[in-house]
Amino acid sequence: MHPGKLIKDNLAMLIDLHNHSYYSDGVLSPKALVKLAFDSKCDFFSLTDHDSVDGLQEAMVESERLGLKLITGVEISATWNNMTIHILGLGIDPDNKTLNEGLNRHKELRAIRAIKMARGLSGAGINDALEKTQDIATTSMITRTHFAQMLINEGICKDMKSVFRRYLTGKKPGGVRVDWAEYTKVIEWIHGAGGKSVIAHPFRYRMTNSKIKRMMTSLKEAGCDAVEVVTGNSSNDEIILANKWAKELNLLTSSGSDFHGWPNQRVQVGKLQHLPEVENCILKKIVNG
Ligand code: AMP
Ligand code: MN
Ligand code: MN
Ligand code: MN
Repeated sequence: MHPGKLIKDNLAMLIDLHNHSYYSDGVLSPKALVKLAFDSKCDFFSLTDHDSVDGLQEAMVESERLGLKLITGVEISATWNNMTIHILGLGIDPDNKTLNEGLNRHKELRAIRAIKMARGLSGAGINDALEKTQDIATTSMITRTHFAQMLINEGICKDMKSVFRRYLTGKKPGGVRVDWAEYTKVIEWIHGAGGKSVIAHPFRYRMTNSKIKRMMTSLKEAGCDAVEVVTGNSSNDEIILANKWAKELNLLTSSGSDFHGWPNQRVQVGKLQHLPEVENCILKKIVNG
């Protein structure tokens, strides 16, 4: 595609480069998700499951059938400064060996964490947490979102926000620290697989604004390509600030809803505010190389 044409088309284009299927903590199959993106009038769509590329083959088949442009993706858990952050890999080769080795290690860490979380919850009087959580999950990946939904179903908490705060973070009963790969490694995996790396939802970490900017600076120094300026629940102020930092740090920008599809979540596929400056959108780099 000619770069100029893409920039021009971008003005009227709907791009959603951050979505989850049931291969991580989303509800829909990759096929149903791609159909939903198509029906929601997305021009470019990416499936970005947590630490997994397992849904991409199915998504590719369906997007080919419908004529929806699919960007291969993954959302990788990473460690920065002893904290967990999320880095999106877009336009990756799903068959890349080093990337898959890294993701397999993260899947193992998740399985070990699920056992520890269940143990912690049983200490708080919540029994059979692992079995009940596995019943909610469609695939073998167990995320904190599954534990959260289980605790809501059991009537132990009423919403996602309180369940994470009361049970699934820090020193709470189901809070378990995980040593995800360092951010430098994760960026290497993504680049090694031919993809572009994007700092996901910068305002969703428990960091002050100055710390977020420090984190973005570190990642840029490690070769990170972009930051997600627009996400499903961004405020106008957040969009303006993230865009300003992206410019200062010479990072490209991205836009993605972070749709998961649980009935108690409001975010919709393709329902996004506009990027302030479409010329800096990472999509151009992914499509045009
Ligand atoms: P995990 O990668 O298994 O640790 O789970 C992280 C996922 O939990 C995120 O991707 C979100 O989908 C979800 N999550 C984390 N914190 C919250 C929260 N406060 N409210 C709703 N969902 C959350
Ligand atoms: Mn999630
Ligand atoms: Mn995330
Ligand atoms: Mn996500």
